Amino acid sequence: MKRLFAGLGAMTLAGAVAGATPQIGINTQAIGSRLLVFTPSDAGLGNSAAILGEDFVVVVDAPSPSLSAAALQEIRARTDRPVRYLVNTHWHDDHVWGNQIYADAFPELQVIAHPATRAGIEEQAIPALATNLERLRATVAARDLVLESGEEDGAALTDDRRSAIEARQGAFRQFINEMETIRPALPENLVDTSLTLDPGGGEVVLRHLGRGNTNGDLVVWDTASRILVSGDIVTSPIPAGGDVPPSEWDATLDAIVNLAPAAIVPGHGELMRDLDYVRLVRDLLAALRAEMTEAVGRGLARDDAIAAIQISVMRSRFTRGDQRLELGFDRFFLPYAAAAAYDELIAERR
Ligand SMILES: [Zn+2]
Repeated sequence: MKRLFAGLGAMTLAGAVAGATPQIGINTQAIGSRLLVFTPSDAGLGNSAAILGEDFVVVVDAPSPSLSAAALQEIRARTDRPVRYLVNTHWHDDHVWGNQIYADAFPELQVIAHPATRAGIEEQAIPALATNLERLRATVAARDLVLESGEEDGAALTDDRRSAIEARQGAFRQFINEMETIRPALPENLVDTSLTLDPGGGEVVLRHLGRGNTNGDLVVWDTASRILVSGDIVTSPIPAGGDVPPSEWDATLDAIVNLAPAAIVPGHGELMRDLDYVRLVRDLLAALRAEMTEAVGRGLARDDAIAAIQISVMRSRFTRGDQRLELGFDRFFLPYAAAAAYDELIAERR
């Protein structure tokens, strides 16, 4: 997902989708003896993965200090090889704020990313840190008041709503504590197109397949297992809408399909054993472009065109009528993707 700490909404979706948990931990999934997948119990935080080579370990993404420390513990339980490389798939804070854990534990560690990812961390994630911390504190304080008064927006608090808020307060407090400890470890090893690592037991290829979510998306391709770690180019259950034009995102998804991976570790959500979901996202983007073409054809202004988009058939394939997923779709996919679709179509007409 995007803008985890920037948009409190991300965490709201996280709670909505994953089921609210007072403290966030990771679930570790071992695929053979080579690959570990770490999925946070709160889907607002990104997945991470570790490729356990015979000579060294390659880690992909570091969602937060505590989750990265937990992941490192799992890695150490399985290998005495050092983590030599940490790849940041993109700059969003829920994929990079745990970098320091690996940097502190392994002085030889190289953090690798696309140059645009480094720029995003420096120019967007770091400057937003203090503001986000303040907003998060304000949110927690406001919600404490709601719990105390038993009223929200002038209406009495239902039991469901109360327990949802209570559960989220714990996660919010955990985020606040963590944000106070963040000392961003910046990527120094910058990769524009591709880089091959040889951790022992099969090469690991880092590639910029094109943009799908940010300007600097890298994917990690483990040649031995044929498993792809995609970053937020692929997220489930709701795709992460960025400002990447839909046709470009689609081309990047096409490149993923062409690799014919045995499985995909998405940026958020469960491991995918087939390409069905990726194809579903491609269909969604096609539907979005078709509707936007129609809206632009009617001469609607930008805001009106964005507001006119329904894509109800495809949308229901993602949300299946679940109210929380509907909310997530409207908050994290639709506005960004529709705006990008509009801008792309207008640019094409010039
Ligand atoms: Zn993310």
